[in-house]
Amino acid sequence: MARYASILETIGRTPLVRLARLAPPDVNLHVKVEAFNPMGSVKDRMALAVIEAAERSGDLRPGQTVIEATSGNTGIGLAMVCARKGYPLVVTMAESFSLERRRLLRFLGARVVLTPASEKGSGMLAKAVELAETHGYFLCRQFENEANAEVHSRTTAREILDDMQGEPIHAWVTGFGTGGTLKGVSRVLKAADARTRIVVAEPDNAPLLGSGEVQPQGVSHPRFRPHLMQGWSPDFISPLTQQAVAAGMVDEVVPVAGEEALRLARELARKEGIFVGISAGATLAAALEVARRAPAGSHVVCMLPDTGERYQTTPLFAGIEDEMNEEELALSRSTPGFRFDTPAAAPAPQPSATPAVRVAAAQEATSDAEAEQRLDDYLAQAPVVMFALAWCEFCWAARKLFDRLGVDVLSVELDSPACQVGDMGVRLRPVLARRTGAPTIPQIFIGGEPLGGCGELFEAWENGSLGERLAACGVAHDSTARIDSRLLLPAWLHPRSAEA
Ligand code: PMP
Repeated sequence: MARYASILETIGRTPLVRLARLAPPDVNLHVKVEAFNPMGSVKDRMALAVIEAAERSGDLRPGQTVIEATSGNTGIGLAMVCARKGYPLVVTMAESFSLERRRLLRFLGARVVLTPASEKGSGMLAKAVELAETHGYFLCRQFENEANAEVHSRTTAREILDDMQGEPIHAWVTGFGTGGTLKGVSRVLKAADARTRIVVAEPDNAPLLGSGEVQPQGVSHPRFRPHLMQGWSPDFISPLTQQAVAAGMVDEVVPVAGEEALRLARELARKEGIFVGISAGATLAAALEVARRAPAGSHVVCMLPDTGERYQTTPLFAGIEDEMNEEELALSRSTPGFRFDTPAAAPAPQPSATPAVRVAAAQEATSDAEAEQRLDDYLAQAPVVMFALAWCEFCWAARKLFDRLGVDVLSVELDSPACQVGDMGVRLRPVLARRTGAPTIPQIFIGGEPLGGCGELFEAWENGSLGERLAACGVAHDSTARIDSRLLLPAWLHPRSAEA
């Protein structure tokens, strides 16, 4: 552990972990867990290398926009690097990649331009080229950029050799996307020990390398078919991959079935506690096959390119439920407390005795002229006023509806530091309760008149009366908006189905 001047210094030096439970007992199977990179994938290495190479060559000018076509991990790595270094970033991505990836990119400040899934990897690349040429962006060209292979020679391969401490490596197993990992690591391992077998895994339904058919110019490879391993085998054999093959680096190509990739990613989580994505499960499938054939006592090294965190909306998480299953329900029923089916059996909530609540109760008994006045002041300040709590998800949902309708709301956060002055947030509660007839938060007022909470707001939107009330006090809103307001609530608040 050290102190770092920048998150970028923490890229690389990922751990090599020996599998204890999944590997054949007589073979040492080591996995290189690239999820340890700051943004969770092997592509962080490439992102930093490509940007710094372009800075050195002068191809990238300070403040210039960076663009790249990426299945996600490259973009996420680039977004981190660009954020730290101050470059705007645009990413082109096929719509078929997982939603988490898009959201992560946008969270990191990048802009994401989606391309039709039918146009595959080539389509997103063509779009990136078009945008770069039109707007003068710096295009990373990860599929052919030598900096992508070089960083793996300089870091990934060296780390493997250092960690193996001179033990001979029988085989090193990887998949390929850009081929940066393949080209960069294989040449260093081969130079260190020519006997090390370089094994490349690819989807069984898209045998780009296994078929031996050459990549035709400018069109999809004839053997490409869509597959489950995001980040692996695009619809063409990239220049970096072709170079590794042409240099005679590849000793063996192992086809892997999508189902097997999913199964092994889950096994790795449940048997070894290592949480990775689909291409990692796929690489492991190939590595296990190699390990089963390897001589006793040999060492096999397997790349695990990324974390499983960004696959929650993909088939990797199929069958992983949000609700309790029968077994979990039975476990819940096995003790009396805190159950959904018998609310009475739950221990009665303890009356709260915090000073704030006692103050509130005392205020309720006497009238609080100052709080009454404050409420009226707020109502006079804006036609739409919402009394809210920052952590309350009903308040977020109500705010989302107003946002979508383009309505400005004065939101009074009762738990904000401003409302803590003179304990006003607490003192406003009983005053609000008296005026509205409801003790709950949020409470929404339109034109000074109480509307109700989140439920009443959504009902008023659905039956059209919200629009009328807004119009009556001169507040413009997007009356054409089509919004299913229930979907604005977080999923755990959606009305439960019959099992409830
Ligand atoms: N797995 C995943 C999840 C990836 O994002 C990538 C990168 N496209 C790879 C594997 C392949 O790595 P490389 O581009 O170095 O061949």
